[in-house]
Amino acid sequence: MNNFKLLNSDHLIHGITTRLGGVSTGPYSSMNTGLFGDDYRDNVLENIRRALTELGTDSKIIILAQQVHSENVVIIDEKTNFESMEKVELENTPLEGFEMYISAVTDGLMTNRKDVLLVTFYADCVPLILYDPVKHVVATVHSGWVGTAKAIGVEAVRKMVSVYGSSESDIRIGIGHSAGICCYEIGDDVIDALKMKFSVDSLRDFVIPKRYGKYMIDLKEANAKLLRDAGILQKHLEIDSDCTICNPEKYHSHRRAKGGKRGMMSAIVQLK
Ligand SMILES: [Zn+2]
Repeated sequence: MNNFKLLNSDHLIHGITTRLGGVSTGPYSSMNTGLFGDDYRDNVLENIRRALTELGTDSKIIILAQQVHSENVVIIDEKTNFESMEKVELENTPLEGFEMYISAVTDGLMTNRKDVLLVTFYADCVPLILYDPVKHVVATVHSGWVGTAKAIGVEAVRKMVSVYGSSESDIRIGIGHSAGICCYEIGDDVIDALKMKFSVDSLRDFVIPKRYGKYMIDLKEANAKLLRDAGILQKHLEIDSDCTICNPEKYHSHRRAKGGKRGMMSAIVQLK
């Protein structure tokens, strides 16, 4: 599991899984945490259990994001009615004793509760983990190119500020392993979408044009730029430089699988 030096704290548990250390086989080998895919459910639940054990969580309530490439960030607080969410049956599974709920149509989860563990899923898209050590709030956000074009990371910062009274200058953000500029080729459709949030000039900071309407993009830097523009300090951003596409032993990758079967990695965060 990878984690961020910047987020290491006695008040926080966090990590982003790799494909190492699990029990799944074949294209899902071995640490696949993608509960919504075709892998054997008990293997996925055992993989999640191993990740939670490694993190040393004491939470019994797990919230998963049902991701749809939206800019929707859901707050889990004392008013959250878990009964209104879809519940994952865990009886007679490796996660028996936990409660697991799916937050529908959301790509970001945020809480100041210490008894809930937040999980978002990845296979090339950019994971963000946000932490305000002053107001004691955490969030995890799924930001692929669609989410980046919608600036979901900035939406999470705004929500932390407006709902919890956070100051932008206190918020720390880890930007996790995901598709790197070495491998992540995109077309004009992506560039057109990004122009909603970026000027043509600023695109040059993280896009390298190739021929025939193709480009290489550094989506982690695109997220970092949006976050800096939203008031996050450079010293409060930590970027994992690993590329998921060209590290097949260590990471799952949607792009590398060319639409075929592949596992999913998870960003996991909980306040202590
Ligand atoms: Zn690469």
